[in-house]
Amino acid sequence: MTKNNFPHLIDLDNYPVSSWDSITNLAIDIKRNPHIYVGACNGKIMGTLFYEPSTRTQMSFQSAMLRLGGGIIGFDNPANSSVAKGESIMDTTKIASSYSDILVMRHPLEGSVKAAALTADCPVINAGDGGHLHPTQTLTDLLTLKAEKGTLSGLTVGFCGDLKNGRTVHSLLKALCCYENNKFVLISTDELKVPTYIKNRISASGKEYTEVRSLEEAIPSLDVLYMTRIQRERFGSEEEYNSQKHIFCLDKKKMNAARKDMIVLHPLPRVDEIAVEVDDDPRALYFKQANYGMYVRMSLVLSVLNENIKTKPLLTGAVMPKVCCHNPKCITNFEQSLPHSFHNHGGVLECEYCDERLLLE
Ligand code: ASP
Repeated sequence: MTKNNFPHLIDLDNYPVSSWDSITNLAIDIKRNPHIYVGACNGKIMGTLFYEPSTRTQMSFQSAMLRLGGGIIGFDNPANSSVAKGESIMDTTKIASSYSDILVMRHPLEGSVKAAALTADCPVINAGDGGHLHPTQTLTDLLTLKAEKGTLSGLTVGFCGDLKNGRTVHSLLKALCCYENNKFVLISTDELKVPTYIKNRISASGKEYTEVRSLEEAIPSLDVLYMTRIQRERFGSEEEYNSQKHIFCLDKKKMNAARKDMIVLHPLPRVDEIAVEVDDDPRALYFKQANYGMYVRMSLVLSVLNENIKTKPLLTGAVMPKVCCHNPKCITNFEQSLPHSFHNHGGVLECEYCDERLLLE
C-alpha cells in the first residue's frame, strides 16, 4: 500500500530542518526575483482537494502554481465530487493523484492526509488535517519570522487563543523546538490548552514553556505574539463554543504594553481576537504573513517537483490490527483498510496518524 519514495509533506518532521531552511531561503529569492521562476513548472499539474473551507491556503497554492506556469485541477466543495456518492478518501486520492504531479489536500479528520498519501501516486501536501497539523502554514510562519525578526532562535513566542484545536499552533510549536533557545508562553483558558503530546515534545527538546491565562500579563515579555481564532468548527456543541469565544482580544491598549519590536502574527481568518484598530500598528504583520505564504508555497512546490527533498517513510511504527486509536476524530476510526500503526513509548502507544496517546493494556 505504501509508496514511501515520494516527498510527501504531512508533518514538517518528514523533512530535515535543513530542507525547511532551504525552502524558506528559496522563497526569499523567488520574492526578490520572481521573473527567474516564471515557467519553472510548465506542463505540471497540481490537484487541490479541499474537503474543508479555505481562503489563503487554497488560493496561495493555486496562485503559486499559476505563477510557476503550471495548471490546477481539483475541488473545494466535496459535495460536487464523487465524495457525495460515498467514495473513500483513499480512492479519491488514488484517482486524483494519477491525474496530477502534486496533490494538496485539506480534510477535517486527523491523520487523513497521511492516510491519503499511503495510496497516492504523487507527492501529497497536508494543507490541514482537522485540529492536528498544518505544516505549510508553519513554513509561512518560519519565513515570516526569518524575514521580519532575522532569526528563528532565541525568541520568546506567545501563543494565544485556541491552543487545543489550533493546528497551526501545534505545527509551529514543534518546529520552533528545533531551533536554539526559544521559549514559549502559552496563553489560553484551561479548556483550550495545548495538547499533552505537544507539551511533551517541547520538554523533550529542552525548551521552556509556561501556561498562563492572561494576555495582559504575558505581552510585555514577548518577541512574537501568535494570535489564533477559537476554532468553532471543532467544538462538540454551540454551548461549549459560546463559553470560550470573546475571551481574548488584542487591542491598542494591550499593544501599548508590548515591546516596540514585538511582532503580531495570526494565521487568519480573524474573528474578533484582534481589534481592527491594531491593523495600522507597524508591528501587526498578519497580512504580510499571508503574502509570504504564497512565496513559500511556490518554493515548496518547486522543491518537491524537482525532488530536492530527502524524505522519511510515512509509517515507521508497529502495526497492531487489534488496537484502535481512542481519538474519535482519527481517520483510522473511519477508513477500515488502514493499517493501525503505533509507536511504543515504554508502554504508551502513540497513533502514527493523529499522535493520540493510549496505554497499552
Ligand atoms: N487558516 C488556519 C487553518 O486553516 C487558521 C484558522 O482557520 O483559524 O488552520
